[in-house]
Amino acid sequence: MKKHILVIHTGGTISMMEDAATGAVKPGEENPLSTHSSSLEQLADITVREAFHLPSPHITPDHMLQLKQIIEEEYKQKQFQGAVITHGTDTLEETAYFLDLTVDLPISIVVTGAMRSSNEIGADGLYNLLSSIKVAANENSVDKGVLVVLNDEIHSAKNVTKTHTSNVSTFQSPQYGPIGIVTKRGVIFHHKPTSLEKYSVNGVSKKIALIKAHAGMDSALLFALRDLKYDGVIVEALGQGNLPPAAVEGLEGLIEEKIPVVLVSRCFNGIAQDIYGYAGGGKQLKEMGVIFSNGLNGQKARLKLLVALSASNEPDLKEVEEIFKN
Ligand code: ASP
Repeated sequence: MKKHILVIHTGGTISMMEDAATGAVKPGEENPLSTHSSSLEQLADITVREAFHLPSPHITPDHMLQLKQIIEEEYKQKQFQGAVITHGTDTLEETAYFLDLTVDLPISIVVTGAMRSSNEIGADGLYNLLSSIKVAANENSVDKGVLVVLNDEIHSAKNVTKTHTSNVSTFQSPQYGPIGIVTKRGVIFHHKPTSLEKYSVNGVSKKIALIKAHAGMDSALLFALRDLKYDGVIVEALGQGNLPPAAVEGLEGLIEEKIPVVLVSRCFNGIAQDIYGYAGGGKQLKEMGVIFSNGLNGQKARLKLLVALSASNEPDLKEVEEIFKN
């Protein structure tokens, strides 16, 4: 029997067209994917929701929360087996990870997009959408967290990131690789995520900043974040988890105010840890109370802190530290 799949469109290049005269890629009146419903119906029973028609740089955590609510409401009405979300690729990994942390349903959830708009040569949108429906309809896709499917690969929302500005193989999971592949004959998983975390959130109004460290960084922006009363700060630190000594005073200022500071590495492979013992080195930062994250990139650590601090029972600093060990 055909599976029932909910398809939610949110916009992005997958729903855009190139203007032949100017070369500008932009949304049109109608979503070009809606003309392909018969190809989708061959794979599953499809219900389509047009949630937004936005380029993904316009997507905010509030849109992500609305998507979570749409999935939950639709599931209450009709218990579908899987959901596929089409999305612009620029912030796709963030929406996918937000849903990974917040949607707790016994279904598969797949997020997909395209690097070439619908009327460009080699357009990858319809192909990726069909692959995603195949993955969402596959019974092995449940219990693996939110999946990101493009270019015949299946990635976990937690590890995947956009690595190239234009190449169709842009989505990669540095250090870990994809967890499965899509072939002409079917869907094959070769890894399973070891743990999944869920948080129950009702709002996303906390202010969380993301700052990238650089040679010569000082404390000015960190003091500004404290004065602006941010609720949390993610720092993409250098290498194994170190900062220039001139940034330490700013971190102390945040920690004195009990504002959680979470450290990730600006390296896209590896995990930030308290290894170095010099001024600004990881050991000093950890002793000061900086929280080290277990391998997430900056944008995902930011969402995780946002979700954790927005959870129904807000964690204290010790609990935030535990949360980032996962
Ligand atoms: N800038 C586009 C977006 O994220 C890129 C894409 O969809 O591939 O909306």
